[in-house]
Amino acid sequence: MTEYCIALDIGTSGFRCQALDKATGETLATSVTARHPIPGMNVIDHVNYAMVAGEEVANGLMIDAANKLFASLGIDLSKVSVVAVCGNPFQLSLFQNIEIRDLAYAGKNMLKSLGVVSPPRDGDVVNASGLGLKGMPDAVVVIPPAVTHEIGADAIAMLMITDVLDSKEPCLVVDYGTNAEMALIADGRVYTGSAAAGPALEGQQIEKGMLAAPGAIADVDITENGWKCSVIDESMITRGGDVVDPKTGATVSAGTMHKKAEGITGTGVVAALSCGLESGLIHPPRIDSPDGRLHLQDGVCISSKDVDEAGKAIGALRAGFLTLLHEAGLWVEDVKLAYMSGASGLYVDAVKALKIGMVVPGAERIIQFGNTSIELARRIALGKVDMADLRDFAKRLRATHCMFATAQTFKDIYAVEYSLWCCGMPMSEYNNMLDIYSLPHLPEQTGAPSVNRISATDLPDAEKVKVNILYDAGTVLKGVIDGCVQCGACVEECPEDALRIEEEGGMAYGYVKSDRCAGTSCRRCERVCPDGVLQLTPFEILK
Ligand code: SF4
Ligand code: SF4
Repeated sequence: MTEYCIALDIGTSGFRCQALDKATGETLATSVTARHPIPGMNVIDHVNYAMVAGEEVANGLMIDAANKLFASLGIDLSKVSVVAVCGNPFQLSLFQNIEIRDLAYAGKNMLKSLGVVSPPRDGDVVNASGLGLKGMPDAVVVIPPAVTHEIGADAIAMLMITDVLDSKEPCLVVDYGTNAEMALIADGRVYTGSAAAGPALEGQQIEKGMLAAPGAIADVDITENGWKCSVIDESMITRGGDVVDPKTGATVSAGTMHKKAEGITGTGVVAALSCGLESGLIHPPRIDSPDGRLHLQDGVCISSKDVDEAGKAIGALRAGFLTLLHEAGLWVEDVKLAYMSGASGLYVDAVKALKIGMVVPGAERIIQFGNTSIELARRIALGKVDMADLRDFAKRLRATHCMFATAQTFKDIYAVEYSLWCCGMPMSEYNNMLDIYSLPHLPEQTGAPSVNRISATDLPDAEKVKVNILYDAGTVLKGVIDGCVQCGACVEECPEDALRIEEEGGMAYGYVKSDRCAGTSCRRCERVCPDGVLQLTPFEILK
């Protein structure tokens, strides 16, 4: 009888899963969610939501999304024996429905006063139906161990799958995402850290940002006559779009791509920033054009606020690299090899990423990997990696973890980055500011690195098996709004089209799509309400 297993990667921006034949390891189906089911754009938002709305509610949203995703795989779920899950400790704890307050508060005294006891996060095997997963009565769920409270299976995956630990020279590996796990390998030691970069470099919280889908601008290049846009077509292939004047958006020459551009992906944002900095049109966060915007094809543009958002993400990444180097007694000239993993790390133009500061400065060789988290989940599901291996690995990493939230070097460098990206400080002042903190200088980037892209797609076998995209992974949350006069201002203000207001029995009710809502980092609807009566937090899952 055929036996199946499922590999599930729970990322901050969504879930990805693959069904595998347990005996042969063959990939049978792939499904991904377009968004994360919990309101919010980053892990802090998700934890915030869980703490305010209740961990049960947050867990319910995640399990519901997993059930919808597994159902979309089109396999007989009753024949699934193992579900292996990968993700950071926040996501895995929310999925497993265990205590998360110890992850949210770093202070021991605070935890003690709240009576919070940290649950063991040393790996677990639990019954699938006990977690609420439907249709797989005989399956177990394997949860890998955490390394520290902020990094876990994602970091283990990044190191195990890329083989960076075998490197004979210092190298830096980063799993690019909303929460960027990173590790410096030097002299047999592994220094780890995790930077909350936010979703801007994935195209979210960007005015015209969108996922990689038909109509998305995925790359931009400077040409003699203007900027050439590359747009994703209906077959998900990136084709040559129009050449435009970036100051006005005027079309210089039409491309071969006939689909109208509708937005821009994270890779497109990185490319546009790189072109903007190279051509001198961007002086962060200001854009040197008549209306203060960079114009691409068909009205898609980059605003100064977008530069600010992307800059904060780049700043967090660069502050993270430099902090790890400083901890290890090294600096940028000591690391010539950089690994980029995760979907963003694979698809982005590595040279442009290096130019804008997403890669350790001075890298001469860049290796781009795909999604290492799902690869680790696959290996666990197929029994190629066992719990003892994972625990040994986690133990090794624990010794040299750097917690950026409390690291003074990180705070100092982030202050420099913030000044650069958000306050108009020119790059020429960067090293002067490093002097203030007694930190070494950043040399100017010279020469182009060699780039080796290991895989064509971030999901294993994506070229063989069609990827199903689940656009409605979330659940509707409903709440009564006392005092609402139904003016509609909140609905109009919502940038994600996540909110609606309806009258029932003389009362006004709000309905929010959990996966569309940007959560605590947004709250624009609440702020715009003229009577201050809208509060999303008490909204409950619509039964
Ligand atoms: S405006 Fe309100 S409902 Fe819309 S995304 Fe923001 S927080 Fe969510
Ligand atoms: S803005 Fe306030 S009063 Fe107006 S519809 Fe929304 S909740 Fe009601």
